[in-house]
Amino acid sequence: MALSFTSSSAVHGSSLYSSFEQPKDSFLDAQFGSSQPLGWLNLPSTAVKFSRRRCAVKPLNAEPKRKDSIVPSAATIVAPGVVEKVEVEDYEKLANELENASPLEIMDKALEKFGNDIAIAFSGAEDVALIEYARLTGRPFRVFSLDTGRLNPETYKFFDKVERHYGIRIEYMFPDAVEVQALVRSKGLFSFYEDGHQECCRVRKVRPLRRALKGLRAWITGQRKDQSPGTRSEVPVVQVDPVFEGMDGGVGSLVKWNPVANVKGEDVWKFLRTMNVPVNSLHAKGYISIGCEPCTRPVLPGQHEREGRWWWEDSKAKECGLHKGNIKEETLNGNGAVHANGTSTNADLFVTENVVNLSRPGIENLLKLENRREPWVVVLYAPWCQFCQAMEVSYVELAEKLTGSGVKVGKSRADGEEKAFAQQELRLGSFPTILFFPKHSSYPIKYPSEKRDVDSLLAFVSALR
Ligand code: SF4
Repeated sequence: MALSFTSSSAVHGSSLYSSFEQPKDSFLDAQFGSSQPLGWLNLPSTAVKFSRRRCAVKPLNAEPKRKDSIVPSAATIVAPGVVEKVEVEDYEKLANELENASPLEIMDKALEKFGNDIAIAFSGAEDVALIEYARLTGRPFRVFSLDTGRLNPETYKFFDKVERHYGIRIEYMFPDAVEVQALVRSKGLFSFYEDGHQECCRVRKVRPLRRALKGLRAWITGQRKDQSPGTRSEVPVVQVDPVFEGMDGGVGSLVKWNPVANVKGEDVWKFLRTMNVPVNSLHAKGYISIGCEPCTRPVLPGQHEREGRWWWEDSKAKECGLHKGNIKEETLNGNGAVHANGTSTNADLFVTENVVNLSRPGIENLLKLENRREPWVVVLYAPWCQFCQAMEVSYVELAEKLTGSGVKVGKSRADGEEKAFAQQELRLGSFPTILFFPKHSSYPIKYPSEKRDVDSLLAFVSALR
């Protein structure tokens, strides 16, 4: 039973547990025997109402009591709940107030507000910075991690190193064995390469996370705006969690803190070096963003860090479900704003004589090798898609540069009625999808990168033509 709680009072101790151990039975009784009903009301998404009465501390994974637990019940000092006090917080307002605050200040505020009802989500990568910030506040803190069973050996060793360095126990969450068994028996060990990572992530990450969060009122993540231009560019420093529920249940029952949202990756690394914080040895091998072993690879200089994750998929799908709230609804649904007659309210994109507009018969023709006289590069797009809009200038410039080169440049709208066809025949994952149709092959090649500047696109075309 993974019940262990991290306390800053463990930070400097040479012994991991001696100063916090309590009789297990009294700890568990305290947790399950005295919880109070909490006053949940229907509230706007920006406000969270909760009782600050904390006579019970709910564990991350509320399992039945087991006498043979080897995990100590550290940091289970239960604050005597005497005064019932109701707080209503506007987290949008708080996020604005903290927008220019330092990560340390934000971390301090988070720990101060939520005490033992908040925990740091630690992935085993550079988000170890969160643990260091928490230590620096001098407040008690908890750390949890999702052990998917598919992590690199280096990451497991790193977990152990972090536990020893900080004198803490990480609260590991594991996937449900029956669910993993069903998935692997029916689809094999590497089904994510065939049909996308969502199903495996749901079983190995999202559901264990959901269970963890049901024991909390708030969590702390290492999300940064610069991590993914596709999905994380608008991450606030604190928000009501748009996806998951906390221990009180219901939409809005969980608060998500992102203390390093505004920090650049290079500055996180400066901080780690300055503070002499241990890091995952995979970083020295070229890994930046680190997840499961089969789904993470090193990136080359100049490549974006998220290009090392699920590299066989499109950029905007690159959330494992843990931060799904970052993905805009229109991106998830594949629909933009539309007029009553079904047409998009956005102006068309890539409108230039150098880009050929391909309707369904045109793109079907390209799929037939016998009708292709020259190689083509084609973007599958939707005018309402902000990522398509963002690459308009570079794609138009690409078309100009390729004029007279023997490579044709095209575009094909793939939303609305065309979407199912594009998904089935052209491997459309999300917008934009860029395809190269080689002259002598019937198989279109998908552009694998998130970099959509003209040089990167040109390099792709030149490498394949
Ligand atoms: Fe499965 Fe890969 Fe997701 Fe890990 S990252 S849970 S291996 S799909």
